[in-house]
Amino acid sequence: MPDAFKDVAVLRQGDPQGNRMIVRLTTHNGLVIHTIAVPQDWPSGTGPTWAYLFENEGLNLIDAGAMGSYAMLADGIQGAGFRTRDIDRVIVTHGHQDHDGAAGELVEETGAELWAHDIYEHLLPHNPWDIQRKAASALQKEMERIVNNDRETNCEDSSGRSSYQERHQGYVEKRRQYHVSHGITEGESLGGLTFMHAPGHSPDELCVMLDGLVFTGDHVLPEITPHPTMRARYGKEVKGSMPARFQDEDRFYGLATYLKSLQRVVDLGEGVAVLPAHRLFNRNKFNFQKVSRASEIIGHHAGRLSRILQRVGSKPTTLESVTRGVFSKRKLIGGNLYMALSEIVAHIELLEETGDLEVDYGQSLRRTGSENHKQFIHDLFKLH
Ligand SMILES: [Zn+2]
Ligand SMILES: [Zn+2]
Repeated sequence: MPDAFKDVAVLRQGDPQGNRMIVRLTTHNGLVIHTIAVPQDWPSGTGPTWAYLFENEGLNLIDAGAMGSYAMLADGIQGAGFRTRDIDRVIVTHGHQDHDGAAGELVEETGAELWAHDIYEHLLPHNPWDIQRKAASALQKEMERIVNNDRETNCEDSSGRSSYQERHQGYVEKRRQYHVSHGITEGESLGGLTFMHAPGHSPDELCVMLDGLVFTGDHVLPEITPHPTMRARYGKEVKGSMPARFQDEDRFYGLATYLKSLQRVVDLGEGVAVLPAHRLFNRNKFNFQKVSRASEIIGHHAGRLSRILQRVGSKPTTLESVTRGVFSKRKLIGGNLYMALSEIVAHIELLEETGDLEVDYGQSLRRTGSENHKQFIHDLFKLH
């Protein structure tokens, strides 16, 4: 039994990844939280989205799962002993389709309120991937070039990719119709809940604290290191529609932003237990963790920053060569290449910010000799 809970009861078994599982968690104060593992509606290595259902100023649901998974969410809610129409509020941790995809249907079917971070509503009219892709610093353009080049040379069968894009486009269109009932601001509370903005994996990411627990969405996950965003520069259209308080992209995107948000979770205090949106259960076992998991993720990125500098070594090198040096071949095939490259770009951007790397016009990377990134990581921990 994890010490954060008085009782953990499996109400319905799932598959080894946990798909369709229903679990009842009871805290030492007697708070009951049901969690439902909502399967993804496409083949996914991430595993199901864990949606959390509990009473607090009405019946709350944190995250709803993927767009095509509403029937399975509804089935899980019933299996936990609730009626979908009794849900008062769905709180989405961030605007990624495996979290808010089914929220629209839930709201339509039940009349529940939709709550999300204040910036979420302003991102809804846009495709989240476009915001990242249009940013297009020279380094990010170089990344696009490598991805396109790889696609051409490998004559990649694009059918899998285009069906992904079609589905994603459907999600983006559907989301434009969402009506946000309440935009959450930093530090706000509701009954026993307190909200914390934790941008970096996604600009609108929320952590939700309740009774010594923190629901972390994709901000802190067991087993997986969440994908950080790259720095972003809004295109004209986005910039034009964003309220002044959200105009500074650097507060919402990039690895530095992500690491600062991880530190804020660490600062919640050692005893606080993490309830993540993925991998609460996997390979037939539970992953109950504390906020120290956020320190591990910071450590992972610190290691990667050092490793990238080592790869650059004493003579200038390219983004592609660094990426191929850091990741195994298997992680560079097809769509994985974009994920790997963008992760390396996010790290290079931080190394540029700290003055440890220079990116020249020919897109080669050069070490400056400093290792200020170590101080940056150290300062994160010093904040407490
Ligand atoms: Zn996500
Ligand atoms: Zn996710």
